Amino acid sequence: MSSDLFAKLAARLGPKGHATDSATLSSYLTEWRDKYQGHTPFLALPATTDEAADIVRFCAEAGMPITTQGGNTGLVGGQIPAGEVLVSLKRMNRIRAIDAANDSLTAEAGVILTAVQQAAADSDRLFPLSLASEGSATIGGLISTNAGGVHVLRYGMMRDLVLGLEAVLPDGRVFHGLKGLRKDNTGYDLKQLFIGAEGTLGIVTAATLKLFPRPRAREVILASAAGASAALALLHRMKGATGAVAAFEIMNRLSVDLVIKNVPNTRDPIPGAGLMVLVELEAMHAHGLREAAEDALAAAIEAGEVQTALIAENASQARDFWRVREEISAGHRPEGAQVNHDVSVPVSQTPAFLARANPAMEQICPGARIVAFGHMGDGNFHYTVMQPEGADPARFPGERLSLAVYEIADALGGSISAEHGIGVARTGDLARFKDPDSLALMRAVKHALDPDRIMNPRALIP
Ligand SMILES: Cc1cc2nc3c(=O)[nH]c(=O)nc-3n(C[C@H](O)[C@H](O)[C@H](O)COP(=O)(O)OP(=O)(O)OC[C@H]3O[C@@H](n4cnc5c(N)ncnc54)[C@H](O)[C@@H]3O)c2cc1C
Repeated sequence: MSSDLFAKLAARLGPKGHATDSATLSSYLTEWRDKYQGHTPFLALPATTDEAADIVRFCAEAGMPITTQGGNTGLVGGQIPAGEVLVSLKRMNRIRAIDAANDSLTAEAGVILTAVQQAAADSDRLFPLSLASEGSATIGGLISTNAGGVHVLRYGMMRDLVLGLEAVLPDGRVFHGLKGLRKDNTGYDLKQLFIGAEGTLGIVTAATLKLFPRPRAREVILASAAGASAALALLHRMKGATGAVAAFEIMNRLSVDLVIKNVPNTRDPIPGAGLMVLVELEAMHAHGLREAAEDALAAAIEAGEVQTALIAENASQARDFWRVREEISAGHRPEGAQVNHDVSVPVSQTPAFLARANPAMEQICPGARIVAFGHMGDGNFHYTVMQPEGADPARFPGERLSLAVYEIADALGGSISAEHGIGVARTGDLARFKDPDSLALMRAVKHALDPDRIMNPRALIP
């Protein structure tokens, strides 16, 4: 009986550790864009790993599935329950330890990313993960979605930043993998199973994260590139000349135009530029960094790769350059029916992706508007296709456009999702584009750990 289960959970968690009233539940049941709405009979808010383990054990014994939630910033609906018990890690928000001499920090799953960044900075270290949702996204959610952000080029994704991990398994046992080791050759790297698993193999309760020295010098450059191939040439030129490229982002003309149109107090930094490139360089000391950047840009102009290049003169100008990039999503959101993609291809294939995808979109939907921007240095684009201006949104062929985008990425050896994951939104696309052997292995892992499908049963692999 579910009521027995809920009584048992309530007794274990106490008044602060659970809720069933609609006023408390409402903010957990919808996400910020209002795209997914859910329902749950019971919200569990564990404060310790032991409590989390008991919740899972009680639910598993009763055959009650669980959805796990962190900061509720995920973009593919995996954190919104549809009748499952909802476990929020919000109250597990302690930084357990900082070992500066080991360049590591251990945080509970509910700690918000900005708090980890701050704790690292307080110890004169850097935790390099940085993304627009960092004020709300939690360590558990970032691990479970293998988040990327703008510094992947230099530091890798969340998968590269986790040294150790603690998780509650689908039967309530605890995986104690909170080691701070950089080298450990004792078999399968089990913690990696939980990274990017979107909550389908257990609840991440804590992690030991890698820290880095804090860079003392930074240069931010905005340039207009002669096209995607020229931007790719510039990426390698800047890497070779400086060894310090931390971010390499592109923004097509329309992405910038819509920021200027729809976001107050923004201005076009290079009017007329067809394709803008934002480059961030980071180094331990300033010595020679700016000179190397200037020389490389001069050579890029000489070679015809770049038409105009601006190097930020101070922190405020650097913020202005980044602001345009960060407001792109806000810029195109009001523009009617649209489909968003976060595909990746090998970096070498990024120009080929744009060269194939743009005309394919035009063929399917004449007049379709394309916003292409994002992490070209990682081979990852945010590629949004929008209805023609003034067209009927009901006639927008979103599914056909998405299919074509995925087919082009796939044909170039790419992935249908480089960042946001599969969630509940893209399980059909995963089944279509993941190769059958890999999908069968994923199902085998899920079955081995969670044969009764207790954990996030609707997400990732249905
Ligand atoms: C404005 C904005 C910008 C973004 N930019 C980027 C970006 O640049 N790069 C990028 O990679 N992503 C980006 N994202 C998406 C990013 O994946 C999420 O912001 C973040 O990783 C999810 O963290 P969260 O704590 O909000 O998790 P939630 O949204 O709560 O959950 C996300 C998924 O993880 C699972 N989960 C959450 N916590 C746990 C846990 N403790 N144990 C097991 N499973 C758990 C949930 O079940 C769900 O499937 C962006 C999102 C927004 C809103």
